[in-house]
Amino acid sequence: MEKKDIFVEKLLGWFAKNRRDFSWRNTNDPYKILVAEMMLQKTNSKQVAKLFDRFVEKYPSPASLAKARVLEIENMITPLGMEHTRADRFKKWAKEIANKFNGKIPDNRVDLLALPGVGNYIANSVLCMAYGKELPLMDTNIVRVLTRVFGIKSLKARPRTDKELWDKVARMIPKGKARNFNLGIIDFGALVCLAKSPKCNSCPMSNFCLYFEEVVNR
Ligand code: SF4
Repeated sequence: MEKKDIFVEKLLGWFAKNRRDFSWRNTNDPYKILVAEMMLQKTNSKQVAKLFDRFVEKYPSPASLAKARVLEIENMITPLGMEHTRADRFKKWAKEIANKFNGKIPDNRVDLLALPGVGNYIANSVLCMAYGKELPLMDTNIVRVLTRVFGIKSLKARPRTDKELWDKVARMIPKGKARNFNLGIIDFGALVCLAKSPKCNSCPMSNFCLYFEEVVNR
């Protein structure tokens, strides 16, 4: 068995027992997933969880969000920070979706990437979590896990934008399990392979992790 296959097997096993439960994960509604991802930009999940349900209850569709005043959205999302920029973006993409796409969140990258505030990560997250496409996600936490376990290094100043890394992770995705694979790495990076003080001694990857071998256990 290749190392990447062992990693995937261990990751899925770990995730089945340790997954974090957030309401945006218990849906495949692309609107709710898009809202959640917009909120999760530069804000942690716990903060988002405090107001996500209220937000989607008040604005249950792109049309309702498009009709809201920016100030009203801003007041509601103040605890997340960057409220003015975010509220403005919410309003802009909701209007675009309501007007251009008949209220339906696009199911393709080109249209998603054209929405204000949507980059590769958010586009892939919507396509994977809502539309079941087998696409990878890449952020600094995922880069950290891969760098430590596999010694994968990027020459780019911002590794999370490195196409080679995206391609490498894409090749790891087990068929039919992209959603759990992506959520699994996110949770694993948030709960075990932490930026500071990773929990190496209780980690299921420790017997094949390069960082464990070269740094922790040398
Ligand atoms: Fe991360 Fe440590 Fe586990 Fe390696 S052994 S994956 S560095 S927590």
